[in-house]
Amino acid sequence: MTKNEFMEYVSYLGKLFSFEPTADKEVLAAWYKPFERVHIDIAREMAQLYLKQETGRFKLAKLLEFKDVALRGKVYKESTENCKLCKNTGFVMLEKRDNGKIYEFCNRCICKIGQSLNSNIKTVTEADLTERYKDYNDIYRLEKPRFENIDVQEFKKEKIGGFV
Ligand SMILES: [Zn+2]
Repeated sequence: MTKNEFMEYVSYLGKLFSFEPTADKEVLAAWYKPFERVHIDIAREMAQLYLKQETGRFKLAKLLEFKDVALRGKVYKESTENCKLCKNTGFVMLEKRDNGKIYEFCNRCICKIGQSLNSNIKTVTEADLTERYKDYNDIYRLEKPRFENIDVQEFKKEKIGGFV
């Protein structure tokens, strides 16, 4: 969000959690840092989640704990240098049905890397993602993945191999 959006956000937080926002520029600058790359919609969502789950005096650290939750399913709206959607490959894999057959195909990501790729490749849309299910390989499937079909050993190697 921009600095102006952030100032609005701070007064929104003040109203939501009944506190008087600080006017101290240094404090505000420090508060702005973790929100610089957060979309204003996500930040509002974070505040709403905080409000639903916690009571007591407002704490910035507590609010920031809700970032990951707020981001889930909303990655699309936030474009960062470290793209969560394509893992900085520029490509998003999707399934498409064509003449009754299901194919995997590539779209360009909405991030900078994706947009720097060949413009003949279609850019993924938000609907493309919300209509599909993301599997453990980050492929957006038409059907909900059936986990009994997944080789457990392969799954371990792929996902948590380094941590076992
Ligand atoms: Zn991307």
